[in-house]
Amino acid sequence: MLLTYNGICGRIYIMKKEEILEKQRKYLWSNHLLYYKDPLPLDHGDGMYVWDVDGNKYLDFFAGILTTIVGHNHPRVVERVSQQMGKLIHSSTLYPNENHVKLAEKLAQITPGDLQTSYFLNSGSEANETAVLLAQVYTGNREIITLRHGYSGRTQLAMSLTAQSTWRVGPTFSPDVKHAHNAYCYRCPLKMEHTLCDVACAQDVEDVIKTQTSGKIAAILIEPIQGVGGFITPPEGYFAIIKDIAHRHGGLFISDEVQTGFGRTGTYWFGIQHWGVEPDVMTMAKGIANGFPLANVITKPEIADSMTGAGLTISTFGGNPVSTTASLATIEVLEEEANPMHVKEVGDYLRAGLEEMQKKQPLMGEVRGKGLMQGIELVADRKTKEPTADAAILLFEETRARGLLIGKGGLYGNVIRIAPPLIATKTDVDIALKILDDAMTQVQNAIQ
Ligand code: PMP
Repeated sequence: MLLTYNGICGRIYIMKKEEILEKQRKYLWSNHLLYYKDPLPLDHGDGMYVWDVDGNKYLDFFAGILTTIVGHNHPRVVERVSQQMGKLIHSSTLYPNENHVKLAEKLAQITPGDLQTSYFLNSGSEANETAVLLAQVYTGNREIITLRHGYSGRTQLAMSLTAQSTWRVGPTFSPDVKHAHNAYCYRCPLKMEHTLCDVACAQDVEDVIKTQTSGKIAAILIEPIQGVGGFITPPEGYFAIIKDIAHRHGGLFISDEVQTGFGRTGTYWFGIQHWGVEPDVMTMAKGIANGFPLANVITKPEIADSMTGAGLTISTFGGNPVSTTASLATIEVLEEEANPMHVKEVGDYLRAGLEEMQKKQPLMGEVRGKGLMQGIELVADRKTKEPTADAAILLFEETRARGLLIGKGGLYGNVIRIAPPLIATKTDVDIALKILDDAMTQVQNAIQ
């Protein structure tokens, strides 16, 4: 153990890596999933980079699961949060607060159409729970349709919505949730050929409603791009069909923008806008406050007002003055330094680099996604498309050794998720691509 002086924080007590890992094993539940064979205790961050406790530096192309959207410790966020902490840290939703209403107003401006009124919470799971409750109260219906391979969170209802066995732990799930096929063109669940299929997977949603529900649903809840599922990106026209199905069966269309929000997918502020569809409800979290715990459910006033009939509610931490300040500062930075057009430009550059790499790297079965949300599906053989989770595990170790952090996903554990802070430049992308390419070659050689 070391006692050091850090110019910014004053005297701080720094634990060595082994001590942290030992206490992790002893005092934290052993079910915490940790990335890497030798877990990586982080110490500090700055912009696109993080450092581990041994002083190793990493270019962060996963952004704390798509969360540090304007980079680590962005000075504007740090300054505004510090000021707010000296003023008021907590209020609860019982007392109106300036930051709370300012953020709600800002989100009403940047979300599409008539989405105008917000309920702030603490996590994506809580936001999805709240959105489902809202839909049930508003419609008077109970059943919810979502997609296979989706991820909605780790509370009981959110896990019921989730459709990957890996993340469905525990004995009880809600019987009101039904899962339809997803729009996974690379591995079409209906074994059809994309472009010749007439988006048949969207029709499956209606078949599920007709065969597995009372015919009247509360909502269809879908991620515009399935995040944990491995950046699975539906084809053009998909969400117009979905919204129509939802409305014809008495339900709302909920877009889970927890991963796709705040410009992540480029061109637009929210993922669903790529499909030209206005949802009835949106949930958001992760990047909303650059790492401060905050989530939101935004909807139309007439839908929100139905909740009053169910009773008044409170949230102890919802709309917290510090988190909402962080969010306002984050959105300002996005507008000035990393707006959706910047993300489109750098994202297209990243995509072109990945597609170029794919030509010489046989492990890369598919590259997909939008903006700075790009996935690589790793396969043992491009013809059979056999997924290879082993290659993903090896690639993780090789990229880490070269100073790059990336993410993983997919039902088969074989999708690399690339999602840097949105302030990433083409120079950052060049560095990441070079490391990825070298690491991929190393993995290819190792498994041959
Ligand atoms: N929805 C989506 C699309 C997510 O990716 C996640 C988290 N990975 C959640 C909901 C749940 O968010 P949280 O972990 O903040 O509860």
